[in-house]
Amino acid sequence: MTPSHCPACGAPQPDGTTCDDYFHQMLYWEAENPANGVVHHLLVLCYHLQHPHLYSREGLAEGLRLLVAFVDENLPPSEIRRRSRDRVDSGKRTWNIKATAESVGAYRHPVTWTMTAADVVAAGEPNYCASVRAWARAARDALQASGNLDAK
Ligand SMILES: [Zn+2]
Repeated sequence: MTPSHCPACGAPQPDGTTCDDYFHQMLYWEAENPANGVVHHLLVLCYHLQHPHLYSREGLAEGLRLLVAFVDENLPPSEIRRRSRDRVDSGKRTWNIKATAESVGAYRHPVTWTMTAADVVAAGEPNYCASVRAWARAARDALQASGNLDAK
């Protein structure tokens, strides 16, 4: 049985299409047209934030910090990396970004996503960069509205 909507993000999944398929379609657009690669960090972040079980609890918290930094401060990935080096550098950090048996990311409050990977794919390759930027803003707003950006 194929669910018609993604259990994590609510994206429609017609004909057995999964969010993983959408993710790979977007990666393909980036590989095909290097100009699309400028939003790669937002693609990876939005996709994982909407499927938080892929993150550890600590990874999810870091993902939320990154989203706010990208959307609110409009910082480029290079600057984010410089700032968060001590916290995130894999040589120093004691926690995993990805989910482990002991630590799986989950939101404290349910989130109603207004935009998903399905919307970005439906908007087509010519609109890809604008769509991903809109996706990041929509994700940030949905996380704020659901109370998941307050407190630590
Ligand atoms: Zn999904």
